[in-house]
Amino acid sequence: MYSAKTGGGGVAVFGRRSAAAEAEAVLLRELAGATARGQIEVHYQPVVDLAEDAADVSCSGMEALVRWNHPERGLVGPQDFIARAERSGAIHEIGAHVLDQACRDAAAWTVAGRPLTVHVNVSVAQLADDRLLTVVRSCLRRSGLPPEQLVLEITESMVLEAPDALRRVHDLAATGVRIAVDDFGTGYASLTALRRLPVSLVKVDRSFVAGATSNPADLAIIEAVVQMAGRLGVEVVAEGVEEVAQAQLLAAAGAHHAQGFLYATPLPRAAFDEWLATRTPLHPRPVRRRTTAD
Ligand code: C2E
Ligand code: MG
Ligand code: MG
Ligand code: MG
Repeated sequence: MYSAKTGGGGVAVFGRRSAAAEAEAVLLRELAGATARGQIEVHYQPVVDLAEDAADVSCSGMEALVRWNHPERGLVGPQDFIARAERSGAIHEIGAHVLDQACRDAAAWTVAGRPLTVHVNVSVAQLADDRLLTVVRSCLRRSGLPPEQLVLEITESMVLEAPDALRRVHDLAATGVRIAVDDFGTGYASLTALRRLPVSLVKVDRSFVAGATSNPADLAIIEAVVQMAGRLGVEVVAEGVEEVAQAQLLAAAGAHHAQGFLYATPLPRAAFDEWLATRTPLHPRPVRRRTTAD
């Protein structure tokens, strides 16, 4: 490919490639040091309880969403660095930091009289590694957060991709933390996940929510998921709720919780605090838990 026959073109392609490869190498190096330099930030998006009155929702928890505060690039979203961090291995340090921060913040809110549930996303590389269980245990111990107030979000595809994922999820659930299936319905293993994992919550993917008001099939699927979840003792969170009409349909369908731009975007901790101050305190609800005998 780089023979003399390709001439200048071949050289140009080679040159461009090495520039891109060099930029990628720089990014990976920066990512490797990002956690130690305090550049990994945790933002929070409220998870609300769905009530008949769509305007008066109470906050039951929040999802921790990671951002990389890069000195030149500004806030970099997870879509632009999580996959890289998985390939480079930096995900373990980033993931541990997010878990630690999320547990500390949730414990602080609990001490302040708001016992919120914090959701933390776990990546396939973390789920494929024995360190995750140790990290979760030590974050719980250091923060004092009651384990049932921590929800680990995994996707159905991870269970197929990560070796020993089933055993690890069961070990994690045995610590008392709860397991949620994220982006529920978008993979090829939704029902398998419910059958084989100790799942406490499903998060209906926002693509179904987006279609709920216009496409009868999307609404039918949401209603069926809510019914099935009810039979299994699993709670339902609807993701990506942007319109009041969607919230009303979801509440009528019996979904328990919702999350989306209608209520709030992911917020830095101080802004989340301000948002929270405008909400009615959570009325404590019994924690429902399901265990499977796999
Ligand atoms: P996810 O876990 O499904 O998180 C929900 C994503 O949807 C977030 O994007 C959130 O900002 C966005 N979102 C929330 N409400 C709405 C809405 O009403 N409309 C629309 N269009 N979008 C909404 P974000 O923060 O960019 O995160 C993207 C994905 O990155 C997450 O999807 C999750 O898979 C991953 N991620 C985020 N934080 C972490 C982390 O700490 N660790 C790992 N491993 N993955 C993470
Ligand atoms: Mg999630
Ligand atoms: Mg999701
Ligand atoms: Mg997602």
